[in-house]
Parts: sequence; C-alpha cells; structure tokens
Amino acid sequence: MKVGILGAGQLARMIALAGYPLGLDFVFLDPSGDACANKLGEHLHGDYQDPRLLAQLAESADVVTYEFENVSADVAEFLTSHTRVHPSPKALAVAQDRLIEKNFFRSLEIPTPEFAPVDSLEDLEQAMASIGYPAILKSRRLGYDGKGQSMLKSEADLRPAWELLEGAPAIVEGFVPFDREVSVIAVRGVNGSMAFYPLSENLHRGGILRVARSCAGDAMQSQAEAYVSRLMDALGYVGVLALELFETGGRLIANEFAPRVHNSGHWTIEGAETSQFENHLRAILGLPLGSTAPVGKSAMVNFIGGLPEPQEVLALAQTHLHLYDKAPRKGRKVAHATVRAETSEQLSSLLQPLTALADRVDDS
Ligand code: AMP
Repeated sequence: MKVGILGAGQLARMIALAGYPLGLDFVFLDPSGDACANKLGEHLHGDYQDPRLLAQLAESADVVTYEFENVSADVAEFLTSHTRVHPSPKALAVAQDRLIEKNFFRSLEIPTPEFAPVDSLEDLEQAMASIGYPAILKSRRLGYDGKGQSMLKSEADLRPAWELLEGAPAIVEGFVPFDREVSVIAVRGVNGSMAFYPLSENLHRGGILRVARSCAGDAMQSQAEAYVSRLMDALGYVGVLALELFETGGRLIANEFAPRVHNSGHWTIEGAETSQFENHLRAILGLPLGSTAPVGKSAMVNFIGGLPEPQEVLALAQTHLHLYDKAPRKGRKVAHATVRAETSEQLSSLLQPLTALADRVDDS
C-alpha cells in the first residue's frame, strides 16, 4: 500500500517513520527540494497546485493525506474525485477559516471565547464595545503559531492592528485569562470508532509550542473527549485530529483544531502504546485503531531555531531525540526530544536540563 502526503516536512517524516513497520510506502508532494521527508519516499517536486503532479500523486497513492491544513479547496476536490482522501475537504474548509471554525464549534455547543467577524476598522470598533479589552485580532486564514495576530489592550491599538492585516478578513476574540492550555489528540476510524490520548498540557512562548506534557488521569479529560468526539462525528472525520483548548476556572474553551497529527502529540511516539502517527495511518487505511494508553509519564520539548550537539541531549537520562534533518533557521522547529519517567516528580526533574538546553539554543 502506498500513502500519498501533501507536504514533506517533519510531520510527513514522522508519519512515514511510523508506516515502515506496517509495510507501507510513501509518496510526497512538496515544493521544497530539500524538504525533510524526501529521503523517506518518492518525492514529487513542485507546486501543491500543479495539476500534473496532483494527478501523479492520486494515481500512485492508495490514499492521500496531508501534513498541513491550508490545502486549497480546488486541490482537495481534485484529489477526492481521483482517490481516497482523509481527512475530508469539509474538515479542511472548517479548520482553514477561524470564523467558520468558531461558528462550527458554537453550532456543536462547544464553548469558545467571545468572537466577532471583522472586515473593517468600523467592525472592529463596534465589536470591541461588546467584547471588551483585552482581546486578540486574528486573520481568518493562514494564521499559525501566533502569526497574523495582534493583542488589543486599549482603543489606541485598534487602528495599527487593523492596518497590519492589510485588509485581510479577520476575527476578534476576547482574551481568555487561561489557567493553562491543553490539547486533546483523538483518532477516528472509517467505521466511526474513536480513541483519545491523555490530555497534553502545552506551554507556548511567542505563540510557538515549547513544551507538551502528557496528563493521564486529568480532571478535564472527559470534557475534552466529549467536545472532540462531537467535532469528529459532525465532520465524519477520519484520521488524527488535535483540539486545542484553554482551561479557565475548571472549564474548557475551544481555541482551534488541526485536522492532522499535531506537535502537542509528539510525545505519543514513546509515551503511548501507539503513536499518533501510526494511529493516523491505521485510521486512513481502514485498519483497527491502536491503543492510546499512556506508557509512563512523558513530556516533549521542541528545539526551535537552533540545535545543541546531539550528544548533549543523548547524555540525558530517559531522553529520546528526534532530529528533523532541517537546517536551523530563526523560529524554525528543527527537532524535539521526549522524556519518559515513572512518576510525575521524576519527569519534572528529568525535564529541567532538557528545557534548559532548548532555551540555550532557542533564537526566537
Ligand atoms: P492560535 O494561533 O490561535 O493557536 O494562537 C496562538 C497562541 O496565542 C495560543 O496558543 C494562546 O497562547 C494565545 N491565544 C490565542 N487566542 C487566545 C485567546 N482568545 N485568549 C488567550 N490567549 C490566546
């Protein structure tokens, strides 16, 4: 069986690494000549919109998936009319646009921050009268890792924040004074069966994920599972999905979802019976889903912008290094490492030197 993936970055790379033991082959479509998954399969080198390459991808793959959500609707439609594609174009369309996404959450009674669409400075001024400060202005499309976002602390911030968007349609959201950020990684098979990983507690800095820690037995687990299963059922979803949430005062509020494997689930490689990458493949191929049960306590640390000497990471006890084969560049995720321990206390102490290393090389 051959799996086609749009994109050949680290997510595609880790999907392929999980697929080899299952006897799978891979073909990637990516515009970058040195994309980091290229060595792990056939590489179709060119634009995501290139009809010739898309036809080749659809022709050679038994099923197509993707590692990013900003796949254009035309491309998703073209692929679905030629081969099996998971997750569906509908999931992409909802995840790509923050306004459609928030309205979709609302229709499913999944709590969200207060929000309003913004297409002009007047819209923004009007919305702020009811939302109140602080708030965040975000472009509706093409935003990730905090890009295209401005914090609004007072009226003086409105015009500069709006001008920064250069007329792009936007959404303004009330700032949630969260106690912590969590995500739930879930998987749904073609027959509608579902499995959920333990919640991940996520630390961001500058809008970028730094540390994700698995939280088996968390008090918020069942609430998160209820929301993510409602979401996946409504989308008729197949594959792995990550729902990012804020916890505030014992409640969960949905921020966004990613229709794909997710950085906050990388710890599942060592910290769960079946990794998110393997379970994504099992789901899209119609195979039985694997157990999502945790294996010990684990946490993942991202290396952003720079790398320490691999020896420095490998010298740390119970620590597993994943290099992405990417040249370090400012703000770029180039590797991660996962620590696994017996107890939460042991995990915290093992994590300390690892986060110190990541902070030392971090250039963002
Ligand atoms: P996003 O790209 O929407 O995931 O935002 C990136 C990060 O900005 C989130 O992980 C939060 O740390 C922060 N953030 C985004 N939206 C809000 C909000 N409405 N309230 C508080 N923090 C937010």
